[in-house]
Amino acid sequence: MNLKNYIEAIEQLNLYSHHYYVLDDPLTTDEVYDKLYHEVLAYEEKNPDKILKNSPTQRVGDIVSEGFTKAKHLSRMWSLEDIFDSQGLEKWLTKTYKLDSNITFYCEPKFDGASLNLVYENGELSQGITRGDGTVGELITQNVKTIRSIPLSIKHKERIEIRGEVVIFKDEFEKINEKRLSMGEAVFANPRNAAAGSLRQLDSSITASRNLVFLPYGTGENTLRYKFLSEVMDFIYSLGFRKPPERAVCKDFDEIESIYKQMVHDRDSYSMMLDGMVVKVNEIASQIDMGYTVKVPRFSVAYKFPAVEKITTVKEIVLQVGRTGAVTPVAIVQPTDIDGVVVERATLHNFDEIERKDIRINDKVIILRSGDVIPKIIKVLSHERTGGEVEVLRPTSCPVCEGELLDEGVLLKCQNLACEARVVNSIIYFASKPCLNIDGLGIKIVEALFTSGLVKNVTDLFDLTLDKLLKLEGFKEKKSQNLLDALQNAKGCEYWRFINSLGIEHIGEVASKTLSDNFGFAFIDATKEQIIECDGIGEEMAESVLEFVRVNREIIENLQNILQPLEPVKREEAKENPFKAKTVVLTGTMSESRGHIKELLENLGAKVSGSVSKKTDFLIYGADAGSKYDKAISLGVSTLTENEMKEML
Ligand code: NAD
Repeated sequence: MNLKNYIEAIEQLNLYSHHYYVLDDPLTTDEVYDKLYHEVLAYEEKNPDKILKNSPTQRVGDIVSEGFTKAKHLSRMWSLEDIFDSQGLEKWLTKTYKLDSNITFYCEPKFDGASLNLVYENGELSQGITRGDGTVGELITQNVKTIRSIPLSIKHKERIEIRGEVVIFKDEFEKINEKRLSMGEAVFANPRNAAAGSLRQLDSSITASRNLVFLPYGTGENTLRYKFLSEVMDFIYSLGFRKPPERAVCKDFDEIESIYKQMVHDRDSYSMMLDGMVVKVNEIASQIDMGYTVKVPRFSVAYKFPAVEKITTVKEIVLQVGRTGAVTPVAIVQPTDIDGVVVERATLHNFDEIERKDIRINDKVIILRSGDVIPKIIKVLSHERTGGEVEVLRPTSCPVCEGELLDEGVLLKCQNLACEARVVNSIIYFASKPCLNIDGLGIKIVEALFTSGLVKNVTDLFDLTLDKLLKLEGFKEKKSQNLLDALQNAKGCEYWRFINSLGIEHIGEVASKTLSDNFGFAFIDATKEQIIECDGIGEEMAESVLEFVRVNREIIENLQNILQPLEPVKREEAKENPFKAKTVVLTGTMSESRGHIKELLENLGAKVSGSVSKKTDFLIYGADAGSKYDKAISLGVSTLTENEMKEML
């Protein structure tokens, strides 16, 4: 890098920062930003006399936006130095041990959100201030008061600044973006930008609607007298703040490496995004001695996780046809390694998404792959277009059967009931785990059965014989017999599985169970009014059931004859008790199997659901409760231990 490149790089970084911190709408990935930042840092280390004042290495964050009142922090807020691998850690440890060799390390997750400083006076929350430039931030007390994990008063009466990160849980982030998409608004690129954007709203009712969560990581000005940071943090949690999912005090390099590996391994299971682990000297006196550089503390470092966002190019858009005929576009991208997995495809949900995001072939895009979820395009880098990008046209015919597509706006649908893709996918669905759970009906086999003409719909499956199967290419005796056995075993299934396997639009596992419990075999004769009366079933679902039965009554009766499902036994009306008619979620390890506890609660008239929502009345938790517990706390749902539940009975 020469002086000219150095000046250009600073301009570029400052532009990136403005979009990132002020507009909450990044122009690039953190990885690209960090690489350039470290090049600037390396140049400045060699040329200390040439460092420019506006270099991002010389300041924290960015300017404070207009529109908010500004407020000064009682003590400064800092950024963090970052390292990316074990050599980085080794270097940082050597440097730090030179300042003090008699130290241990407090390790906790680096939450990917927006930093926030809380000031408590006389035990009351008096101010909430964003980090801003580290000295002055934006005063957002009203917004902060809407965050349920921030106590409005604490038992500690002396003045204290409590610092932490405001985050948005991953599922909440998806919901916000879905809502924004449906209203034609721009989506947030990632949970961090969504958290920062939601926190800095001029209208606090918007902040309140976003379910933000605060995770403390330290203090600013305070009168505490603890020797160790770990004790300070325990004290903060005792005031009513949330604990991180993992933390540890480590003696040395090996212990730090081991907890780092653990956190990288666990990161996908957390409700919130983590972008690294923060290592801090645990001895407060040593922290004070070590002090700060212009921008970062010398006593801590951010040990970054492998990036989950990468820049790639869209090569092609292909179309998939599902069992209901819905046509979904999938982007084929330049293969890109993200955290050890080569990503080649990204989902696009529907054509409206392509149009709203204005995704074109040859566009540079940011893709996100986090955990097991299918990678998705989170942003188009339209400022990097060169003119060779090609718009994607809405198809008018089915890519599989060439039948005409019905264009319902958001949904494009193949209308042809005999379309191979529809039939094959509905058979795969019929055989899937939450339906009839029939082994051996994977895509290759179902395609072979369909193209041979043996199976044109699900009932045909039950006419298969060994003779017929053995005539097909690749079907040996053992494989054929296994398939016939699996089909035979599906007979006598639970009735809700039978309903679920029909693939009625809007009717999934839970609704199938409800229909089965309420009507048993008589579900095909239920009226719209009767169906709507069932808990959790709305008008659209009821109409879908009626329409399906109207068109397919004969097929349903025929299949029921073949499968001979078990008629469900009606539960007796439960006596009055605190759980009757309540929605309950179970999580964590209990003293007996969760299945038992579920049955106990169902006999008491409770509805046991798999996921926590605003409608949940109680979350009952055992040891090692994870994301469901976090979510219940963030939604203000009552939580009970197993013993507390038993005491209530
Ligand atoms: P940072 O976000 O990397 O680290 C410092 C911050 O980490 C603290 O202010 C605090 O808010 C937060 N933090 C979370 N958990 C913590 C914990 N347990 N202990 C202490 N702090 C914790 O630093 P920064 O200076 O705000 O920004 C640099 C980051 O922002 C880089 O990762 C960079 O890639 C990214 N960035 C990206 C772009 C872009 O265009 N994509 C632009 C600018 C900055």
